[in-house]
Amino acid sequence: MLDARPPRQASRRLAARKRIALIAHDGKKSELLEWATRWQQTLCEHTLMGTGTTAGRLKKALGLEVEPLMSGPLGGDQQIGARLAEQRLDVLIFFWDPFAPQPHDPDVKALLRLAALWNVPVACNAASADFMLSSRYINEEYAMMIPDAEAWAQGRTTNTP
Ligand code: PGA
Repeated sequence: MLDARPPRQASRRLAARKRIALIAHDGKKSELLEWATRWQQTLCEHTLMGTGTTAGRLKKALGLEVEPLMSGPLGGDQQIGARLAEQRLDVLIFFWDPFAPQPHDPDVKALLRLAALWNVPVACNAASADFMLSSRYINEEYAMMIPDAEAWAQGRTTNTP
């Protein structure tokens, strides 16, 4: 049977200036705003993007430059997932609400799966986001391993019936 895992690992180097995506479900938006207020100075030093409403709230409350993507329920999580798979995103801060089912729960699951697959650092709550932004790697280059997409495609081309 074909192994469903990428056959080899490739390396990836993150620049010192990170591309950070910010998402908060409605029940978690005030928590994210509170957290971002504490980390405003650090966040300013990186390139930020976010789902539509989250980005708008961060800009309005803190004046942060956050590239607004689609709102989450309209496809914003999927847009962030695509950037992540294309290595155009380095860090994901995603305050998802464990108490509220979302209309776009499949998108949320897909995004978290891609982050796990591509070895992207994810923080799902304020404490993990504190640890992440206080890491020295947030302002330094960082070398990491990711799946080898070319070897994966080549293996499947050769081995699938
Ligand atoms: P929003 O999307 O920032 O547009 O509210 C977040 C989400 O629900 O995934």
